[in-house]
Amino acid sequence: MSAWTEVGERVFVRRYAFYDQNIGVVLGEGEALVIDTRSTHVQAREILADLRELTADPVTVVVNTHGHFDHAFGNRVFRPARIWGHVDCPPFMERTGEVRRARIAADLPELAADLLEVEIDPPDRVFAETATIEVAGRRVELRHLGRGHTDHDIVISVPDANVVFAGDLLEGGAVPFFNDGYQLDWPETAYRLAELVRGTVVPGHGDHAGFAFATAQAEAFRAIAELGRRIQRGELEVDDALELTPFPEFAREDIRAPLQRTLAQLRGELD
Ligand SMILES: [Zn+2]
Repeated sequence: MSAWTEVGERVFVRRYAFYDQNIGVVLGEGEALVIDTRSTHVQAREILADLRELTADPVTVVVNTHGHFDHAFGNRVFRPARIWGHVDCPPFMERTGEVRRARIAADLPELAADLLEVEIDPPDRVFAETATIEVAGRRVELRHLGRGHTDHDIVISVPDANVVFAGDLLEGGAVPFFNDGYQLDWPETAYRLAELVRGTVVPGHGDHAGFAFATAQAEAFRAIAELGRRIQRGELEVDDALELTPFPEFAREDIRAPLQRTLAQLRGELD
């Protein structure tokens, strides 16, 4: 059974079994902020119901760490809350949302009906580099640190609680999802993220952790980018590169797609 974990003063995380996903909550006096909204309206309503274990206050602010369906397809349920995201998040959702909905519905038939009722509702409050928001007297900082898991990931810091929400720029328990990623930029972005970590860092999926985990992920991303460069220079075959995976706890095959994406970026296909 999942439950809320207080990772900093009045900052909570709940880990949902579906996709082993972390949803964050910041409480203040009289209102609440929610970080990411899950994959469907049904799942989003589950967040709201679970939130009643913590507070009766309304959710007035939502932040989408990025526009992937599992982080933003529940948005509609939280209206009239203000929904924050990076300026490139709404166009990403408009460009990819319907395709992603169809593909996930085909892959996960048990979710198809719930996905069909989703009204895709992108953030209406956007910024390019940084934004500071106040929720019931608490300061919450939003930063875009560069391209990484997508071209529009944002990191959420709650300075008075020493908590950083990393979205999918970091991922515990699996090789991070690279298919919309920018492998050549991701290491630098992850190092910048690690510099913000004073206490707890909450990845989009998997265990929350600390500075050492964030740094280790940045190093793994750098290793992926370097393997890609070696393949491009003709020093390595892809199959040989798999043996050098920087994620040895997971299947070697899991870095094949990340390497292909790295090669695509090296060929200039992602710009
Ligand atoms: Zn994602």
